[in-house]
Amino acid sequence: MGFTNAPAPGLHASVPDPRTTTRRRLLALAATTAAIAAAPRLAAAAEPHYPLDDISRRVPRRGPLRCPDVELVNYRGKHIRYTGLARVFVGFVERLAAMEQVAAAVAVEIYGRPPSRLQHMGTYACRRISAYPTWLSEHALGNAIDLEGFNFARAPRDKPLPEGLPKALGGPFSIRLARHWKSKQGYAALHARFLRTFARRLIGRKDIFRVLLGPSYAGHHNHFHLDVAPWRIVDVFEDQTA
Ligand SMILES: [Zn+2]
Repeated sequence: MGFTNAPAPGLHASVPDPRTTTRRRLLALAATTAAIAAAPRLAAAAEPHYPLDDISRRVPRRGPLRCPDVELVNYRGKHIRYTGLARVFVGFVERLAAMEQVAAAVAVEIYGRPPSRLQHMGTYACRRISAYPTWLSEHALGNAIDLEGFNFARAPRDKPLPEGLPKALGGPFSIRLARHWKSKQGYAALHARFLRTFARRLIGRKDIFRVLLGPSYAGHHNHFHLDVAPWRIVDVFEDQTA
């Protein structure tokens, strides 16, 4: 399946989120524009240097697109295996591995075991950000992933499940942003807690990703977009205090 090269939803996402109001969209647009404008300062001062920081993201508004020549590798996950291989910039691999460790730690706390698989919607794709056609998407550098959720295998028989965990969750199950992000009842509420705890910790780990977009950002109701652009944008929680 060639989905890693297919256009993947990201900053550009073409599927509008029906819950997103125009006001919210305008605010997001303003925040993104401001963050992009502040980019050189951020890259130079606030963050340790990243190998792709000096590559210009400016591109002609239309016409054939030439994507920068970066070293891409096929990655399948180190701490959590990916359901499909991820084609990414070689320097992005360690960021993904660190993210997997965050997910595994939260999963062990809640479900008594790490996820068996990570499900993503795409990594490398040579394209513009469609809302900002004079800018290259981080996907065009193999510097982004669209993360949909995780699968869990049956819990090992020799290890007790965490106290209070419903017995049924000792069996295999999957967690997806699209299905569980807003859940408030039953097992699904636990999955929402997992996703939200994972997102909060990932936002706190400024050494991993700089841009984290999720359900509160237009077009991202079903995935987290995570990248290492030369600017920082965090827009994941509908209620920013959540
Ligand atoms: Zn994306």
